[in-house]
Amino acid sequence: MSQSERDQEPARSDRPESATESEWHSQPLEAVYATLETSEEGLDPSEARTRLEREGANEIEAGEGITPLQILLEQYKTALIWVLIVAAAVMAAVGHTIDAAVIAGVVIFITVFGFLQDYRAEQSIQALKEMSTTYALVRRGGEKTEIDARKVVPGDVIFVESGDIVPADARLIEESNLRVDEAALTGESVGVSKEVGEVDEETSLAERENSLYKDTVVERGSGTAVVVETGPETEIGQIATALEGAEERDTPFQAEMDRLGKLIALGVIGVVSIIAITELVIGDTPALQVFLTAVGIAVSAVPEGLPAVVTLSLALGARRMAEKNALVRRLPIVEALGSVDVVCTDKTGTLTEEEMTVQRIVANRETYDVTGTGFDVDGEFRRNGEPVDVDRVAEVLRCGMLCNNVDLGTRERDGDTEPTEEGSEERERTYLGDPTEIALFVAAQKAGFDHRELADEYPRLGEVEFTSARKRMTTVHETPGGEPTAYMKGAPETVLERCDRELVDGEIVELTDDRRRAIEGRTEEFGEDALRVMGFAYRPDVPDAQTREPDEDVEREMVFLGLQGMLDPPRPEVPNALAGCLDAGINVVMITGDNAVTARAVGEDVGLRSTTVITGPELEGMSDDELRDVVDDVDIFARTSPDHKTRILQTLQGKGHTVAMTGDGVNDAPAVKNADVGVAMGIRGTDVTEQASDIVLLDDNFATIRDAVEGGRRIFDNVRKFVNYLLSGNGGEVTMIFTGTLAGLGLVITPIQVLWINVVTDGIPALTMGVDPAAEDVMDRDPRPPEEGVITERIVTSIVGIAIFMTICLLPLFTLNYFGELIPGYDVTGALLGWSPGYEVGRDLAQTMVFTGFVVFEIVRIQAIRYRYGLGLFSNRWLVLAVAVAVTLQLLVLYTSTGQLLFDVEPLQFVHWLQIGLAAVAFALLMAIFVKVQDRYFERY
Ligand code: ATP
Repeated sequence: MSQSERDQEPARSDRPESATESEWHSQPLEAVYATLETSEEGLDPSEARTRLEREGANEIEAGEGITPLQILLEQYKTALIWVLIVAAAVMAAVGHTIDAAVIAGVVIFITVFGFLQDYRAEQSIQALKEMSTTYALVRRGGEKTEIDARKVVPGDVIFVESGDIVPADARLIEESNLRVDEAALTGESVGVSKEVGEVDEETSLAERENSLYKDTVVERGSGTAVVVETGPETEIGQIATALEGAEERDTPFQAEMDRLGKLIALGVIGVVSIIAITELVIGDTPALQVFLTAVGIAVSAVPEGLPAVVTLSLALGARRMAEKNALVRRLPIVEALGSVDVVCTDKTGTLTEEEMTVQRIVANRETYDVTGTGFDVDGEFRRNGEPVDVDRVAEVLRCGMLCNNVDLGTRERDGDTEPTEEGSEERERTYLGDPTEIALFVAAQKAGFDHRELADEYPRLGEVEFTSARKRMTTVHETPGGEPTAYMKGAPETVLERCDRELVDGEIVELTDDRRRAIEGRTEEFGEDALRVMGFAYRPDVPDAQTREPDEDVEREMVFLGLQGMLDPPRPEVPNALAGCLDAGINVVMITGDNAVTARAVGEDVGLRSTTVITGPELEGMSDDELRDVVDDVDIFARTSPDHKTRILQTLQGKGHTVAMTGDGVNDAPAVKNADVGVAMGIRGTDVTEQASDIVLLDDNFATIRDAVEGGRRIFDNVRKFVNYLLSGNGGEVTMIFTGTLAGLGLVITPIQVLWINVVTDGIPALTMGVDPAAEDVMDRDPRPPEEGVITERIVTSIVGIAIFMTICLLPLFTLNYFGELIPGYDVTGALLGWSPGYEVGRDLAQTMVFTGFVVFEIVRIQAIRYRYGLGLFSNRWLVLAVAVAVTLQLLVLYTSTGQLLFDVEPLQFVHWLQIGLAAVAFALLMAIFVKVQDRYFERY
């Protein structure tokens, strides 16, 4: 292991306390306990609290994200800011102090504004990260307790099993079949088997089989260990500073916006240079005037606030989705969500409640009903409505409780991250473990079995683990008679195929083919009633070699005991959510480990599009081409193993679908990772799957997926709207200035006025459009094709159309007032040719008209753009407020002396407002016709 030695050597040598720490693995366990003042009984809750205060939280300070200074400096990275800074400098140099001050003010405003938005976005992202807590199972006060992994302290006794991420560095006390993937630490991708014991002090990190390390992944088996180091003191804390949050790439939106920004900037520089050179070489316009025009065009064409608005709307959208229980782990995924057209979902727990209750039992060749629901341990066993003696079902129930990893314990309440003062942490008593096993556990309790007594009577010697691929599990126990006995439970067919006898009324008899068929028939009946069925068997004479470390060999020559059928009702909100998905052009495919009959019954209950089933074994018999041909028509895959998920995913993706895939188990991680939108389960899921996912469903609920898709579509719509809004504003300004210059009218609006519009009166409404409600039809339309970006043909025509119509309506306002003011006493020709007093007076008023016209037209533009989404003017109160603020600010500019001084405006009279009003009506009419024409040519947005 020279590689891993090299990996860890440098880290160890510069550790201050390496002497004690390096001994953790070589000391006897007793010495470890002594040093840590703990025992295998773990810590007291109060002691754990003291230690938490002393040692600090069990987390690695992962490069704090971006610092505020960095965010501020980011703002100076755009070329535009520098254009403005240069402009301000030149203005100051030529003595235009007021203009220089205003431009400088705008520079400050843009940077502060951009900073605040980026800062808020960053905060939201950090807050989302905080929310994705992992939990650890520890022994506190002698009881198994589920806690926030950040609260684990040295001396805690932890329990890990496959799929868990090890919460801290720990020394093994007990293990069963434990194998850990330590790639995160050593780079070694092959799993390492772990064993209790001591190793030499010199043993390299990768070979310390008696130790577990934080952030490594349990591949198989289970283990109990005592925590020796937490947080920054752990191995991973020492060597890796930033595992999480390392690279936050730009989202595709942001990338598209960046490209667009650069394109515009380049175009502007080109156009401005041409105008400037031509004017300076052949024209006779003063250099200052040319400069002003150049700055005006540059400033008007570039959408200053756009990048920040995009970031903010994504981050706010993600936060809103988190409130609805969909935790977005990677921002870019919001965009992919809008394109999802197939959702592959688990059944158990996602479509169903996963609060299972055993309802029927087959034992001694007879069927019994079980009364009572949920975790209530009061219940009866009945046959044909009459209560029966529990002895009739006792063997099946005992098997269900022995071959079971559920434990009674406590769970710290959510949200209680800080210990309460009096030291009484809020905990709830609960069953800890797999819901299927909890149901079996409760059923056995109904018959009066006590798990502790049973564990004393039948001590467990070993376990052959359950995996989704094996669909069964076996435990080996010592029995009161001294005989080691194996108990097995699992999918009925996998259990049956390992049985050759059955237990009937205390007698072991041969399991005939007829009997097999009868049992299969029962399984089918249970399935048709949507019951999840489990088979049970035992083996009385386990060979010695198989008692301590049993493997699959022990699962032979078993004696069949019976069946238990559990009800797992569909979640009430699922049928609606599912219908919503189908309406939105999203097909829902159920991929389950359960059997075909049960899967079909549940599929019917929740309203899948069809109930065509392909089972795992059928799938294996199909070629890729065959699967490709049918995959679009199959809505249920039953009896699947996790690797089937990947195959189904690839086939769907190969047909051009954008697929969201849910997963919970360890082996689901590859499919979840490769899906376009990987969805993990917050409650039931394993840590590994969560790490591989893009979205975590905090409530495990299918309906949340539907909400997330709606959220994604809504955010996308909103980005499109404000991009359209901002760019069409810029387009209008450029076209106006360009046309004015070409027509010999000089500057129709000043650079400072343009800046004001772009940053303030356009900027504020744009920001609020980021929180526009969803369009009425957001879930009625088909998913957006994945290759379709923010800017579509329709949006391009909108931008061009709006720019032209604004110019058509605003240009008359300019010329009318420009020439209108030149009535008596002024030299019309002189004004037209150059710098006469008449020219100045007329220009100020005319520019004020154009300037104010742009602001008033905003209202028309907002409506024209939002009309397509069925949103009325008052559907977003923030937007109404923003428009009101924009108009008020504009009035302040017009009617206060400071405003007039800064912006070179004339206070408008009634007659001027009348003109602007008429122009706005004309603009609105033109837009209405234009939108109708667009509707005819463009189906999409
Ligand atoms: P889904 O894939 O929709 O979550 P599922 O829970 O049935 O459904 P798996 O967890 O892969 O899928 O389980 C597959 C089958 O294995 C189950 O149908 C059941 O028969 C059996 N099984 C499930 N849990 C256990 C367990 N703890 N011990 C033994 N067998 C089990």
